[in-house]
Amino acid sequence: MSNNAGRPSLIIGLTGGIGSGKSTATQIFQTLGVDVVDADVMARVVVEPGKPALQIIAGHFGPQFLHPDGSLDRAAVRQRVFADPTERQWLETLLHPLIRQEIAQRLRKSASVYAILSSPLLSETGQDALTDRVLLIDAPETQQLERTRLRDGASPEDVAAIMATQWSRSQRQARADDVILNDGDLSQLETRVRAMHQAYTALSTTPRQTE
Ligand code: ADP
Repeated sequence: MSNNAGRPSLIIGLTGGIGSGKSTATQIFQTLGVDVVDADVMARVVVEPGKPALQIIAGHFGPQFLHPDGSLDRAAVRQRVFADPTERQWLETLLHPLIRQEIAQRLRKSASVYAILSSPLLSETGQDALTDRVLLIDAPETQQLERTRLRDGASPEDVAAIMATQWSRSQRQARADDVILNDGDLSQLETRVRAMHQAYTALSTTPRQTE
């Protein structure tokens, strides 16, 4: 019997609103040697050609939602469900359990002391059930807007529309076990991520209390 069977002893769910600095913080954890599972990547894996979900989606919406090479036209699907809550619900009911399964499988394979699940919709999709703690990358809304504008060239109105579909800052804060405030420059973010990494490393090597 391997004492490393199953999953790492500690799984951290990392989340935050658009432009909060999730991807940047996740990359810093990665450079510190932490295995990361990215929920956005897993969301693409479950609809790859050959996966059952792709057939189901094409059957439901029609073959015009596939590219000529047989892959999913994600932009077309996004547009289709954007203004139609019933279809959006249908798609989420299909995909969310599959994405969770894929994430769980990848997390089980992780070999680092602790692992991170990075997900913009961690709690909204129930993926937080796969984690031991929720780490919020938190930033003032003005900075979310400004960073997204600089990154994507998105207008404040576009970013505000996306933010309106996501949990509010206070909802996220209420759900988080740990918070990294990303309100300074990149070197401050790195210092804060390093401190959190030390805390998680200590936590994951401390034997758990049995109840
Ligand atoms: P998210 O993944 O949460 O949408 P990103 O990590 O992509 O956010 O960050 C959004 C943009 O802001 C990126 O271009 C990133 O380089 C930049 N950024 C993130 N944190 C900081 C910071 N503390 N100082 C300056 N720029 C930052």
